Amino acid sequence: MSVAPDVTVALQGRFFGDLPELGVRWQAETFPDLRLLAFDEALADELGLDAAWLRGPDGLRFLVGALVPDGATPVAQAYAGHQFGGYVPRLGDGRALLLGELADADGRLRDIHLKGSGPTPFARGGDGLAAVGPMLREYVISAAMHALGVPTTRSLAVVSTGRPVQRETLLPGAVLTRVAASHLRVGSFQYASATGDLDLLRRLADHAIDRHYPGAAMTDHPYLALFESVAAVQASLVARWMLIGFVHGVMNTDNMTVSGETIDYGPCAFMEAYHPDTVFSSIDEWGRYAYDNQPVMAAWNLARFAEALLPLLADNVDEGVALAENAFAVFRAQYDHTWASGMRAKLGLSGDLDAATVTSLADDVLALLKASRVDYTSFFRGLSHAARGDAEGTRGLFADLAGIDEWIARWRALGPDAALMDRSNPIYIPRNHLVEEALSAATDGEQRPLERLLAAITDPYAERPGFERYAAPAPDDFGDYRTFCGT
Ligand code: AMP
Ligand code: MG
Repeated sequence: MSVAPDVTVALQGRFFGDLPELGVRWQAETFPDLRLLAFDEALADELGLDAAWLRGPDGLRFLVGALVPDGATPVAQAYAGHQFGGYVPRLGDGRALLLGELADADGRLRDIHLKGSGPTPFARGGDGLAAVGPMLREYVISAAMHALGVPTTRSLAVVSTGRPVQRETLLPGAVLTRVAASHLRVGSFQYASATGDLDLLRRLADHAIDRHYPGAAMTDHPYLALFESVAAVQASLVARWMLIGFVHGVMNTDNMTVSGETIDYGPCAFMEAYHPDTVFSSIDEWGRYAYDNQPVMAAWNLARFAEALLPLLADNVDEGVALAENAFAVFRAQYDHTWASGMRAKLGLSGDLDAATVTSLADDVLALLKASRVDYTSFFRGLSHAARGDAEGTRGLFADLAGIDEWIARWRALGPDAALMDRSNPIYIPRNHLVEEALSAATDGEQRPLERLLAAITDPYAERPGFERYAAPAPDDFGDYRTFCGT
């Protein structure tokens, strides 16, 4: 670890300063051979970082935690979590470090965080490392989510380390440099609450309010307002996932942020043929985190958040539970609102149209999509042709022609706006077969497919010649897609 005099990255240590009990000072492992595999220059600009410096030798060392800016204190964060329903009291950053917080060009604080930077005291026997494929996967999917307007942690860079990682086979290793509004998780509150140290829990809640919901501090009941704020941002986040066909795959409470950003891209994937039961993760045997179950699971996680906050909500448990139960109305209302607004735009309908009409139209067409196993993304994108008067392409997707004709007639009578639809329905999403193709090529040292994929998905609404295969569903021989947690 060394400090270069010309480093201008001004990292703060707010988290560790406020909450020393929730972090362990640690340093990243040193790696033999650093190479930049992916780099988001626009994000570097947004952060006020010098892109040319980041690409150079000192910048690469900064991106993997080898060069720590003067005054910064890297820490592994402690958190607990319910994993697939079972409570694990001590998870924490087993292979990750918070380098510190950076004030971005707009003055907002952003966490600079590393994933795959070596084992920490929370590693629980894991090697603390990450392979190139999964780190590029997080890079690609988070870039797509951002371009689709979904709140997400961002990926600044993926740097290969020159150190092989043992998984089923020996794979090249990498570090992901992640940027987030914060890394406060529901599991952070569960951990603080379980210590029984009320002062710690209060400091954590105050830190979260200060960082994300300063308005809550001005209310009569700041901690209830904190809960309601998190319920609202999570409701709208999960509604957005549903609108784009995203399946997170591992919605454990340690993977749910207080900021409302999507975090920890592991076995996630985009649904192709519409089906509510879609599951990709090989370990999700019961479909706990299936596509259609995501809103219910988000609410379940928020109930765990409420439990963790109970000592701050009221002096007695019954009163606290009653307050939290009432606050759940916020979740339902915000979810319905975001989903109906999103569907209204996807269907090209006017802002005046009531939510009940939108919901019934959407539910009916989703039932038709399910029955004919129609590709979710290309259906909505292609539907703008039907709004312009040419419904043949859309009709061709369905077995039940009478059903879709009746639905199209009902919908067209409402005067859908085709241009609004093209702005609201992406043509390019990170389709699983294309992601796999890009990651395996990059793992073998061939960057071109990754660059093409990123070009498609970072501008997802603009149809461009030469990108036809990025708009098409997987070929039949790709088979059922499975993702794995051992990343
Ligand atoms: P995740 O599934 O990425 O959300 O990780 C769940 C927990 O396992 C977190 O506490 C991680 O830090 C930890 N973890 C995952 N992979 C590793 C690894 N290779 N070495 C150490 N800890 C890990
Ligand atoms: Mg996690």
